[in-house]
Amino acid sequence: MTQTGAEHVEGTARHTDFDVILIGAGLTGIYQLIKLRETGLRVRCFEGGGGVGGTWYWNRYPGARLDSESYTYQYSFAEEMLAEWDWTQEFAGQPELETYFNRVVDQYDLRKDIQLNTPIDSMTFDEQSNNWTVTTRGGEQFTSHLVVTATGILSAPLYPDTPGLENYQGEVYHTATWPDTEVEFAGKKVIIFGTGATGVQLITEVAKQDVEKLTIFQRTANWAIPLRNHDLSADEMSNIRAGYQELFPWLRTTFSGFVHNWDPTPTTAYTPEELLARYELAWSRPGFAKWTGLPLDVGTDPEVNQGWCDFVAGKIRERVTDPKVADMLIPDHLYGTKRVPCESGYYESFNQDNVELISLQENPVLEYTATGVRTAQGDIDADMICFATGFYAFTGALDRIDITGQGGRKLKDEWEDGPVTFMGVQVDGFPNLLINGGPHGKGGHGNSTRCSEPVVEWTADLVKYIFDNNIARVEPDPEAQRRWTDHVYEVANGTLMSRTKSFFFGDNVPGKKRAYLAYVGALPAFVNDLQAMAADGYPDLIFTK
Ligand code: NAP
Repeated sequence: MTQTGAEHVEGTARHTDFDVILIGAGLTGIYQLIKLRETGLRVRCFEGGGGVGGTWYWNRYPGARLDSESYTYQYSFAEEMLAEWDWTQEFAGQPELETYFNRVVDQYDLRKDIQLNTPIDSMTFDEQSNNWTVTTRGGEQFTSHLVVTATGILSAPLYPDTPGLENYQGEVYHTATWPDTEVEFAGKKVIIFGTGATGVQLITEVAKQDVEKLTIFQRTANWAIPLRNHDLSADEMSNIRAGYQELFPWLRTTFSGFVHNWDPTPTTAYTPEELLARYELAWSRPGFAKWTGLPLDVGTDPEVNQGWCDFVAGKIRERVTDPKVADMLIPDHLYGTKRVPCESGYYESFNQDNVELISLQENPVLEYTATGVRTAQGDIDADMICFATGFYAFTGALDRIDITGQGGRKLKDEWEDGPVTFMGVQVDGFPNLLINGGPHGKGGHGNSTRCSEPVVEWTADLVKYIFDNNIARVEPDPEAQRRWTDHVYEVANGTLMSRTKSFFFGDNVPGKKRAYLAYVGALPAFVNDLQAMAADGYPDLIFTK
């Protein structure tokens, strides 16, 4: 069915249902909708979920929690919210975040422009009209001049390709599609796959639930660090609020938008005793003080990094009573070359008699059975299997929409050997498509809100520019796209991260060609470049009147 009839905006000569279709009502989409509305254009946001909040709507598994300090993750633009909203914990849990995003949506009266439960299945660019036709899962079609995607970088769930899941008779959950109803663990035999940032949180909570048996299948051990969360008192919260004037400008200067910035003093400036004291100080502090707050050469010099690894391995050994289990939990990759999970009692979970860690390297799972899993060493029964196995990161959410651009080109095909974009915001061959939260943009290696807000603002300005100037098409200069893509790969290949298999390179997806998917340059420079381009009249974009 084609729906038409939304009012035609004066000054545009295009008869479309909407001026802009926005896909996604997560943390990026919500702010994008606010900024697009300010342009006075006709905007409709389509959201696949039954509620807003994106990650914080879908990932409602036990233990889901921020690893960025709550007040650094909130919107910086929402002044009324900043004035009145109290965070209850230094690192907020999923329910609080979901409530927060819903409050913003209500405060800005956004619901009337958001269509929930409406996944977008396909979109096609029409070269005659220079408009997009967007088709929902339910078969509705809508046209718009521009499409802005805010589909998230970690939103298309990945399941292991082990055969036979359809035969399994027990409960099955994925952390990224966790139900909105209570899941009972007590007295049950539970299997969890995955020990990334999500698995570490889930395992810790499930281990506390009086389960009969918890079996964890680990493919790769991860360096996990203590979160050190705490409840925020009213006094703390009012001190934090009093500091907002300085906080947000500061976060705009840090490498990844985190409050912890790399320490420029190299480890060579310390004696061994001083360095140990420096490491202990970092260890005692919350969150990523033990990652992006470390001396910079921990992140760049493999020998220095190994020294820090040895320090962290010592901490793991102190906490895990069985030395064989401790060895299994100590990674063999350099620290920070995969996402570092934060934990609150994860390692102690493995000291419980009812918790077993199985290495998939030593004992692979061959298939699912009706009652559990068949491993190389025998069958294991389970009442419940939980997948904390991650995502088709960066490209997955866009790949699952059938996107057809100029000349019938499919975005998925264009990206088969690795993404190509201009600054993560546009792709040659896909005019009038603006991306915020896809591959090769600034997100995934930083505080998500801090990474997305400037791109939201830049995108809204560009949208306004397009309509103010009656522009029929906007697309990136292919040469600028080539330069950006080369730059993204060059920066990534120069990092320690490139030595390790991770979802940043698509290594988690069986059969996927290895290609770097994020952008590991500094956030302030990325934002400056975007803003400078806008100030210069967008020299890297091609406009057709
Ligand atoms: P992830 O980092 O990709 O971890 C997935 C885990 O599942 C890994 O241990 C992976 O092993 C394992 N796995 C994947 N396929 C498997 C298979 N076929 N069989 C067995 N194990 C398999 O995904 P995630 O833990 O969901 O985290 C993704 C991102 O979400 C994080 O990096 C973070 O950005 C975000 N997140 C944030 C927070 C927070 O801020 N608090 C919390 C949770 C998640 P390999 O390591 O071998 O691939």
